[in-house]
Amino acid sequence: MKRLRAAPNLVVATMWADALNAAGYPAQVFSRYLSSIAGEIPPDQALPTVWVMDARQALAALAFLDALERPCASPPWICTGCGERHTGSFSQCWNCGAQRPADS
Ligand SMILES: [Zn+2]
Repeated sequence: MKRLRAAPNLVVATMWADALNAAGYPAQVFSRYLSSIAGEIPPDQALPTVWVMDARQALAALAFLDALERPCASPPWICTGCGERHTGSFSQCWNCGAQRPADS
């Protein structure tokens, strides 16, 4: 087992662990409930931490987490249905429901 990193909160820690597990890096969240005693212990030690079960996967798992947090690289696009402009992170038009064209 190897510690990957501390998460800002339990929701993010759980999301990271779920994504790691789905990607083939068995992981667990530890220190889930230490936030309740933040102040009695240093705040940075009260954060939930994500651990990978196989220490040999630690580097690849960290790279996976880094990629997960990188902003979407998709370019902005314009809906062919209604002309609405969207950032690259959207795959469907929020205005008319049309899917993003495959070539944009
Ligand atoms: Zn649209």
